[in-house]
Amino acid sequence: MNSRNLLKLADQFGAPLYVYDAEKITSQFQRLTNAFSGVNSLRLNYAAKALSNISVLRLMNSLGGGLDTVSVQEVKLGLMAGFKPESIIFTPNGVSLEEIEEASALGVQINIDNLSILEQFGSKHPDVPVCIRINPHVMAGGNSKISVGHIDSKFGISIHQIPHLLRIVELTKMNINGIHMHTGSDILDIDVFLYASEILFETAKNFKNLEFIDFGSGFKVPYKNGDIETNIEELGKKLGDRFNEFCKNYGKELTLAFEPGKFLVSEAGHFLAKVNVVKQTTSTVFASVDSGFNHLIRPMLYGSSHEIINLSNPKGKERYYSVVGYICETDTFGSNRRINEISEGDVLCFKNAGAYCFTMSSNYNSRYRPAEVLWHKGKAHLIRQRETFDDILRNQVDVKDLFETPKAAAIK
Ligand SMILES: *Cc1c(COP(=O)(O)O)cnc(C)c1O
Repeated sequence: MNSRNLLKLADQFGAPLYVYDAEKITSQFQRLTNAFSGVNSLRLNYAAKALSNISVLRLMNSLGGGLDTVSVQEVKLGLMAGFKPESIIFTPNGVSLEEIEEASALGVQINIDNLSILEQFGSKHPDVPVCIRINPHVMAGGNSKISVGHIDSKFGISIHQIPHLLRIVELTKMNINGIHMHTGSDILDIDVFLYASEILFETAKNFKNLEFIDFGSGFKVPYKNGDIETNIEELGKKLGDRFNEFCKNYGKELTLAFEPGKFLVSEAGHFLAKVNVVKQTTSTVFASVDSGFNHLIRPMLYGSSHEIINLSNPKGKERYYSVVGYICETDTFGSNRRINEISEGDVLCFKNAGAYCFTMSSNYNSRYRPAEVLWHKGKAHLIRQRETFDDILRNQVDVKDLFETPKAAAIK
């Protein structure tokens, strides 16, 4: 997937456009698999919320992955994409008992992250095996917006509540077949991750019928020059060895599970947008593209940095630009970026646009969501059509009879 291909796709399908490189997704999947080749049974459950297009889910299924879902709608998408129910894990947070029962009726693995629902579900369905999400209170990332293992986090059952948890399991006679943690979105320090894993192993000893231990995700990928990337080969070796040792002591071969989102799809994604206006002010040169945080909110939501390149003028002189959107809000994609000289009509590419980009898009300002294209074996496949005005109106109920139309004369 090179710049020339991308430019052609912007021409063919129009901008703004999301493009995903199937080969990159495949190689990331392989890389993670290889890193844990020392483990007998490995399961990679792709976190659907990162990029939930059904064609991308089909690709993941073809690679042999499972699916990590956070809503019953994602479960249904996964089933439509061909995943077997037993390859899907439902890991919601703060959802109703009804939604969990609905997912359970579809045959997927349930993962429960609070004692209240655990007790209710266990009392009603003691025969359904359940995974429990533990909060080891470890902050694996540096950014409190995305680290969910710390003490104030809403995710998981606190390790300090294990005695209460065990009482519920004993009283309901439910069967705990897996334990899970997901400490946050950035594993910067492998040792911190291994430390959290020890807490999970310690917890695991309390349950006799485990089938798997799920270590969540948080594999970091580089977004800009100098960014640290999780050393998954080292993690694979260290955690793999420790896992094998645990299984030996536990007396049973368990499955080691992960649920990567970003790692599998982030770098495979390219977001293409066209420059509408180049505006020179006294202090800054703005390049305004035909997009905004309605299509790519991560820079505004998390302060994430997506590298921006000018596909149309790759050899142009580098200048400083602030790349902004066309939404009536301050929607800055990047400030003072060195980019090859930009002219109106040029196509810019935002890198690392595979994870949490399209899935977080909206119709704000009554704009259309972009089209999505999957690039596979040198060919482009449209996997989502660009929206049209009908999509903006869909589900709106126009109560035109309620209000009188002002007479023409009244409007002065
Ligand atoms: C979002 C999420 C993931 C994926 O996280 P990434 O940082 O994208 O790899 C995994 N597990 C759970 C429970 C999640 O909510």
